[in-house]
Amino acid sequence: MSRIFNFNAGPAALPLEVLEEVQAELLDFADTGMSILEISHRSPAFEKVLEETKQDIAELLHLPEDYGIFFMAGGGSLQFSCVPYNFLTEGKTAAYADTGSFSDKAFQEAEKVGRAVKVFSSKAEGYDRVPRPEEVVLPENCAYLHITGNNTIEGTEYFAYPETNGVPLIADMSSEILSRPFPVEKFSLIYSGVQKNIGPAGAVLVIARRDFVAGRDKKLPVMMNYETMLEKDSLYNTPPVFAIYIVGKVAKWLKKQGGLEAMEAVNRKKAALLYGMLDRYPAFYKGRAEKDSRSIMNVTFNLPTKELEAQFAEEGKRRGLGGLKGHRSVGGIRASIYNAMPLEGCEALAKFMEEFYQANK
Ligand SMILES: *Cc1c(COP(=O)(O)O)cnc(C)c1O
Repeated sequence: MSRIFNFNAGPAALPLEVLEEVQAELLDFADTGMSILEISHRSPAFEKVLEETKQDIAELLHLPEDYGIFFMAGGGSLQFSCVPYNFLTEGKTAAYADTGSFSDKAFQEAEKVGRAVKVFSSKAEGYDRVPRPEEVVLPENCAYLHITGNNTIEGTEYFAYPETNGVPLIADMSSEILSRPFPVEKFSLIYSGVQKNIGPAGAVLVIARRDFVAGRDKKLPVMMNYETMLEKDSLYNTPPVFAIYIVGKVAKWLKKQGGLEAMEAVNRKKAALLYGMLDRYPAFYKGRAEKDSRSIMNVTFNLPTKELEAQFAEEGKRRGLGGLKGHRSVGGIRASIYNAMPLEGCEALAKFMEEFYQANK
């Protein structure tokens, strides 16, 4: 067996220990004589998985009591619609901070539902940064402010969140959830497609303040109704069982690593190795993000020519450093260094960057 260092953006690397556990119990899960893929979502065995998964995530986040956790399907993209359908009511305006192509997609879905405005956009500068807190000014009668915590394609991330003075703050945290501690109590609702940082494709983790999702429009499509999903404890219909099961294993793995405080330390160290190379050779490795906004999950940069970028990704691959090609919409190079990427992977990539520079400068 030879596993590479996997820098894919999503679906992305999972901890090897988690994969090994899944493999070991695949044929007989928890003495049921069946695989987790074959049991009822209403069986005690799965209910235990769901309960422990929620509990472990709550523990990792130091989640306040008045928040609930549930899982949905439809990917991060369905959430772009769920948010305005649930919260953008008549006479109100939804505010969006436009910091990347996923923010823009979320905004476009909101426009289909009601009145939505962009209160910040770095689009003209190639989405090179997120706003400073004081730059975000909200409209009158604001339904909510939507932000994208980490911009997966562009490589920017919030480290300070806008002050909303009581207006609900909603975040798409698909690509940074559980990578570091953050003040959950600032947010009314958080959603995360799990396939970037904490699991495989198929499930979305939603964390919501209970009183925020309660008492909403009952005429919503039921599969988009947050209140129903929370009340039914993710079990209104068949949830993405296998994905939730793996998220549960990842949560236990994160606790074993020392929790989010420990993850932040190693994630920052990993990012610093790569940004260190960008800062050492800024004319060769041209970072896409402004320094204050640099993501510790997705490191994005350009080389002097497209040919060199292709060569970089190709040579990297031959050395066991996979998935370095940037998103098809922006090109360049992207190294996604989520929780499951070990420090050694970033050390190997930094070493390769040094050698590639020396050979091609
Ligand atoms: C990947 C991603 C999405 C889209 O997720 P899908 O599950 O593919 O719909 C949305 N937002 C962010 C920040 C992402 O990284």
